Amino acid sequence: MPREFALPGTRARYAPDRALDLGHYRIEVELFPDQRRLAGTTTITATVITPGLRRVELDAVELEIAAVSVDGVALPATGFAHDGQRLRIELGPARARGDALTLAVTYGARPRRGLYFTAPDAGYPDKPAMAWTQGQDQDSRHWFPCLDSPHQKATSEVIATVPAGWDVLSNGERQSDRRDGDRRTVGWRLAIPHSCYLVTLVAGDLATVEDRWRDLPVTYHAVRGREADAQRTLARTPAMLELFSRLFGVAYPYPRYAQVFVADFIFGGMENTSATTLTDSVLLDARAALDHDIDALVAHELAHQWFGDLVTCRDWGEGWLNEGFATYAEYLWREHHEGRDAADLELDEWAHSYFGEDGGRYRRTVATKLYDEPIDIFDHHLYDKGGRILHMLRAELGDDGFWATLAHYLGKHRHGLVETRDLARAVEDATGRVVDGFFSQWIVDGAGHPELKVTLTWDGDTGRLEARVEQTHKVEGKTPLFRLSTRLRCRVGAADVDVPLTIEDRLHVVHVPLATEPTQAIFDPGTVILAAVETSKSIGLWTGQLHGATLAIDRIHAARALGKQAGTAATQALGRALGGDRFWAVRGAAAEALGAIRGDDARTALIRALVDEAHPRARRAIARALGSFRRDPIAGAALAAVVERGDASYFVEAEACLALGKTRVAEAPALLRRAAERPSYTDVIRQHAFRGLAEARDDGAVDVLTAGTAWGRPSQGRRAAIGALAILARGRRDRDAVRIRERVEELLDDPDFRVQSAAIEGLATLGDAAAIVALDRLIAQAGDGRLRRRGREVVRDLAERTAHGEELGRLRDELTELKGQYATLRDRLGKLEGLTAPRPPAPRARSARTRAAPRPAATPRRRR
Ligand SMILES: [Zn+2]
Repeated sequence: MPREFALPGTRARYAPDRALDLGHYRIEVELFPDQRRLAGTTTITATVITPGLRRVELDAVELEIAAVSVDGVALPATGFAHDGQRLRIELGPARARGDALTLAVTYGARPRRGLYFTAPDAGYPDKPAMAWTQGQDQDSRHWFPCLDSPHQKATSEVIATVPAGWDVLSNGERQSDRRDGDRRTVGWRLAIPHSCYLVTLVAGDLATVEDRWRDLPVTYHAVRGREADAQRTLARTPAMLELFSRLFGVAYPYPRYAQVFVADFIFGGMENTSATTLTDSVLLDARAALDHDIDALVAHELAHQWFGDLVTCRDWGEGWLNEGFATYAEYLWREHHEGRDAADLELDEWAHSYFGEDGGRYRRTVATKLYDEPIDIFDHHLYDKGGRILHMLRAELGDDGFWATLAHYLGKHRHGLVETRDLARAVEDATGRVVDGFFSQWIVDGAGHPELKVTLTWDGDTGRLEARVEQTHKVEGKTPLFRLSTRLRCRVGAADVDVPLTIEDRLHVVHVPLATEPTQAIFDPGTVILAAVETSKSIGLWTGQLHGATLAIDRIHAARALGKQAGTAATQALGRALGGDRFWAVRGAAAEALGAIRGDDARTALIRALVDEAHPRARRAIARALGSFRRDPIAGAALAAVVERGDASYFVEAEACLALGKTRVAEAPALLRRAAERPSYTDVIRQHAFRGLAEARDDGAVDVLTAGTAWGRPSQGRRAAIGALAILARGRRDRDAVRIRERVEELLDDPDFRVQSAAIEGLATLGDAAAIVALDRLIAQAGDGRLRRRGREVVRDLAERTAHGEELGRLRDELTELKGQYATLRDRLGKLEGLTAPRPPAPRARSARTRAAPRPAATPRRRR
């Protein structure tokens, strides 16, 4: 039984009372970067909802309250009280419903959250000096007093005074810009109500790239000198604005759209209304752009302007209405820009991430009130599963029904708040379909996903294809027997014949009469359903699918199935796909499958492809596949050549590093140490070189890796070094391992949030319960809820963990080695037999689709 999501003591959380109907926030602040301090006055106008209201409580964490006034009258000290978390303001005589109210609070702060200052230091002398805010989930209260929950919406103004050399960005439109000596004051206003977690202030010496969509200003902002990278990274924004305005049936609703890159951002991006913040670590240089883009992140944050900003989840328990749509928009952009085949790869990745969390961390309903902090539910259930559910809903309603639903939903709830039932009602209003059952099983009441065993068999006597679909998962807790609608696709001659299937029982059997024996039989073409599927069918049907399926994702799944097949037929079919499929990802999947099969023929095909393959993304997969040839000098040499001479693509070079480490050939450690010195986009080469050193079990690398964790090194490399050290010391208790654990424990206090997060994962990997003391200390003092939640999980897991982790590790290594030897022997035997005996009849083949082994639990992907 998968683990429960709710930790001991978790209570249901509901939106707080709404005594006031907010009107407007006027936030005037002055920033003092050198002291990491701010001061200012926030003025809130509102209308009373609760009859007889006598006091108001504002969220105001660690603000130093200097003065409070109500309707312009300053209150005496007895008229307000602040407990460090909330500011209580006495209103005097009871207010009537509908009364107007103006509250003004003057305060100062040295915020630990909400507003962040960055500056160069001894470790990072080139780090830009700037300030930026991050409100979500509930951190706006750390830099201005507010009613900090999504169901409180208001228009806003931000007027910020900063050093003269800085510019200021915020929501809406620039209203004013005044210089006064060494200070500059810039004012912004958004005349459309939004939740205060979406209020933003970014200040620094920023350069601006101007772009346009229709007659709307679209701007990109980054530190001086990165303008070209910003343009390169965000150039497709106008096309995305055009697409989403068309698909969603509502034009982009704000007066401009800005995107600004900031240093040390604690997320990948944040969809602040009309002004998205992005981490500067993803800015693309020309070489990175060869085979990488951040379109998914850009599309995600942009789509939030509709789903989240214009129409907002009423409380965080309904957060999937923000994140599910923003995630699905990544698919919609990819589908439009590169085609369905490229988009379907996202589906696979989402399933992989969600399955990893569900199998390795916890299971929960997608909409839930049971959480300690809102940030706890910003996980793969919310994003990845949310995105997959919307993809299923689109298939269920058809494209016209789906777009009509979105247009109706956005139009009806524009500037408003939504719950899951509002989307279900929008489907009904727009299409007449009642999908309450669908929402119940996938979002509100049901948790988990179906596990399906599919058997497809052709019966030449009756001329029928039999399809048996069995739901094999345990129906327990919140996991139901699912009702699924999908199709069975048969290729008869040159045509695809699709047969609709509705599965709602434990076992579902259909017989499909066909004119001739099909060359393909595919359950759920395009992998629309979010399910762990194990399919059993003839090797002929698998190779037919690999070479001829209409959708690339189906060809990819055939490659994976054949990768679990021993023997020449599978190797030859995969070799053909590796050399000839029209889509790079199918060639890549064929490569990975050959890596799983191993043997001389597979290796030969891979080494040839490593040289011939033009598409860098396919080349990455080929390099990765060669990593499975443990202690194979030929595979090792091919990888070493790539590591030594480099590759046009950062990512191919990086994959070759990790794969080289995995081969454990003698020359690997020295080469990897050299590669670890090469600067690269997001430090990807150093990251993989470090992981390669761990995979090579190179104990001599402890010093290099420990040095790699030092303050002043690139953040991504530091994190990879922690992970590598943990792998090297996993399950060990010797002096070296203790030294490593202590170093990782030190990093729990690192100023870099992501390094802290990596340190927690490192201690989870190390598996030494002695780390519990340090973890408990972190849980008690960490500012970021993600660290607290993950820390609690790891402490629980360490406390439960058994003593024989080390033995397990050794056995695992031995098994990997034996498998390699077996593959070589099997190959040679096959050749010998081929020379002497007649060929046996074709075997039946099994395959698992998307049943990924649970990934080690990790914090969700970079997007926000
Ligand atoms: Zn998001």
